[in-house]
Amino acid sequence: MTHTAHPFDALMEITARPNNVFVRGEGSWLWDDGGKRYLDFIQGWAVNCLGHSPPAVAEAIASQAKTLITASPAYHNATSLKLAKALVDSSCFDQVFFANSGAEANEGAIKLARKYGALHKAGAFEIITFEGGFHGRTLATMSASGKKAFEPLFEPKVKGFPKAQLNDIASVRQLTNKNTVGVMLEPIQGEAGVWPATDQFLQELRALTQEHGVLLIVDEIQTGMGRTGELFAYERAEIAPDIMTLGKGIGGGAPLAALLATERVSCFEHGDQGGTFNGNSLMCAAGLAVLEQVSQPAFLKSVADTGLFLESELQRLSARHGLGEVRGRGLLLALDLKLPIGPALVAQALEVGLLLNSPRPDTLRFMPALNVTREEISQMTDQLDTILTKAGAARRVA
Ligand code: PLP
Repeated sequence: MTHTAHPFDALMEITARPNNVFVRGEGSWLWDDGGKRYLDFIQGWAVNCLGHSPPAVAEAIASQAKTLITASPAYHNATSLKLAKALVDSSCFDQVFFANSGAEANEGAIKLARKYGALHKAGAFEIITFEGGFHGRTLATMSASGKKAFEPLFEPKVKGFPKAQLNDIASVRQLTNKNTVGVMLEPIQGEAGVWPATDQFLQELRALTQEHGVLLIVDEIQTGMGRTGELFAYERAEIAPDIMTLGKGIGGGAPLAALLATERVSCFEHGDQGGTFNGNSLMCAAGLAVLEQVSQPAFLKSVADTGLFLESELQRLSARHGLGEVRGRGLLLALDLKLPIGPALVAQALEVGLLLNSPRPDTLRFMPALNVTREEISQMTDQLDTILTKAGAARRVA
């Protein structure tokens, strides 16, 4: 390749990206290198829970960077101890392992469950996962995912992830056998298009897994850290899982993830798990700044209230344009378009300075900053209203 190629050419092309190049962000807004401003309802894929470059996170990172970035995974550092304690105090779990991405946290959850199976369940290793589920892009987490597009890729898959149907307890019971060590799910399937597990299903799963001595693993990488209006989505169903993974929002935009487990299940032995950057002070400082804000009851209440407002605005749009249901909870919502027009709407939105996501061709997903304002929501729905009106007119002409 010549070195006079376009700057984009130096990156591996792993997805189709538009030509916009972003240089600055603040709250719900992003700016490109031409100075154009965009209202962001993607927020780094549900990552920037406090918006772009939130002052508390920026200051925590800057201050920590001047103090200590990485000691070594072979030593304790004060920031990771503080964050681990705060996470344990805010949840039903007893111990934490920090990771650098959601997939890595899930890979750790799978290893922990298999270790538990080796120690306590005569080598049981199967983890029941779900059609439509998404757990990441490492080999094991792709195998655990129930995403159709992954099926032909990177064979052979990691074995041991039979797939059940979400909200169908009989399908889980049918797959449960002496090799089963865990059941792993997202409380709301995000990438599949925002499909919630019902509270009843989560309670039935907890009862079934307890009956069989099987671990319940919740992947809260998308739903955790206040996204649904609870700090963790499992709380709503009033269940206590055995293992939870966190990612995305936990670092407020900085790469941080976590694997949490109850004491009974936390069975790694020396050498089983680790990683150079895991639990580094810099990212844990970001995590502490995030947790301090999102764990406040008033903040969580505001997420729930703002979520209801967004939901009602989307329902209004749906009724006006003859679209389908609004799904999800808190500030993880989807609008069913009934037609495969999602990618076209996303492209038109980008043109007018609005960033939207279409995880499925017939679905729009909304994952704004958790502190998005009602004015910003109204601005988004006004812009979407105009785009939908134009799309409807274009369909009528065609
Ligand atoms: N699990 C869930 C539920 C996710 O939504 C994602 C990312 O979208 C992941 C795991 C993977 O996280 P990461 O992309 O940080 O590896």
